[in-house]
Amino acid sequence: MTDAPDGAPVVVALDVGGTGMKCALVRPDGAVVHAERHPTGAERGPAAVVDTILDVAEGLAGKARAEGLTPVACGIGVPGLVDEAAGVAVWSSNIGFRDVPLRELAATRLGLPTALGHDVRVGGLAESRLGAGRGVGHVLFVAVGTGIATAHVVGGSAAAGAHGAAGELGHIQVRPDGPRCGCGRPGCLEAVASASAVGRRYTELAGTPLTAAEVADRAAAGDELAGQVWREAVEALADGLATAQALYDVETMVIGGGLARAGALLFDPLRAALRERMTFHREPRLVAAALGDEAGCLGAALLALDRLE
Ligand SMILES: [Zn+2]
Repeated sequence: MTDAPDGAPVVVALDVGGTGMKCALVRPDGAVVHAERHPTGAERGPAAVVDTILDVAEGLAGKARAEGLTPVACGIGVPGLVDEAAGVAVWSSNIGFRDVPLRELAATRLGLPTALGHDVRVGGLAESRLGAGRGVGHVLFVAVGTGIATAHVVGGSAAAGAHGAAGELGHIQVRPDGPRCGCGRPGCLEAVASASAVGRRYTELAGTPLTAAEVADRAAAGDELAGQVWREAVEALADGLATAQALYDVETMVIGGGLARAGALLFDPLRAALRERMTFHREPRLVAAALGDEAGCLGAALLALDRLE
C-alpha cells in the first residue's frame, strides 16, 4: 500500500480474462494502491466464475476499508459481448457467460455503484486517457493477441455499438481465399494477422511450433520462411488498419497485445505498408500501447469513476 490520507477514496477494479483476473484498488487520479491477480477458473463454469468475481471484489473492498481507504465504486471488464447500458455480460466464448446481470450482482454484493465494460473497450479507455493515446482526441486502440479487436475512443469515451459488438476489426474479411476464422467465415483479419495466426502459419509451413514473437525474431535474423510469414501478416494487418482509418479517421492508433511486443520489427514495416495504402485519408500515427496488461484493470477503474460523475 502506498501512503494515502485517512478515508481517501478508491475504486475496486477487475479485469476478467479467459485465464486470469487482474484486480486493483485505484485512486481517482489513476494511481494503483494495491494490485492482485487470481485465476479465472473458467473450466468450473460461468456460475463459479461469477462467484469468484463477487468474492474477489468484496475482498478488495474489505481490504480498502482495513487500510483506512473508502471504496466508492466498482468497475468490471469482461470479454465477449457486453451490454454496457444494461450492465449485462451477454455472451462470452471463453468463459461461457450467457446474459449474466453482473453489474446488478456486484452492486448488490458490494453496496457500491458498479460499472460493467468490455475488456478491449476498457483497455482502450485506459490507453487513451492514461497511456499512449493521452491528450489525443480520436484514438483507435487495436489489441492484436489471440484475436484482434479495437476500441474507438473519442473524447475519452468508447462507443459500444447498438448491441455491444462494436470494434470487431478482427472479423473484417481481408483474404477471401484465406484460412477459416473461428467465427466461421474465411479470411478474417484475425485468422491471418493475430499473434496466434502468425504462430500457426509458421508452424504449418515449417513443422516447428513458434510463437509470433519468435517468428519476428527469426525474420529479423534472416530466416526466409519466417520473413515471408511475418510480411504476410504485416500486409494483412495494414489492410485492416487502412479499412479502419477509412471508417474512423483517427489521429493515433495504439497497437497493443502480443504482436506489439515485437516493437520495431512490427512498427517499421507496418507504418510503411499502411502509408502505401493511404489515398486521400490522413495517415494515423502508429504507437505501441504503454500500459501493457494493466490497461484493462485501469480502464475498469476509469469506468467506475465515470459512473460516479
Ligand atoms: Zn471472423
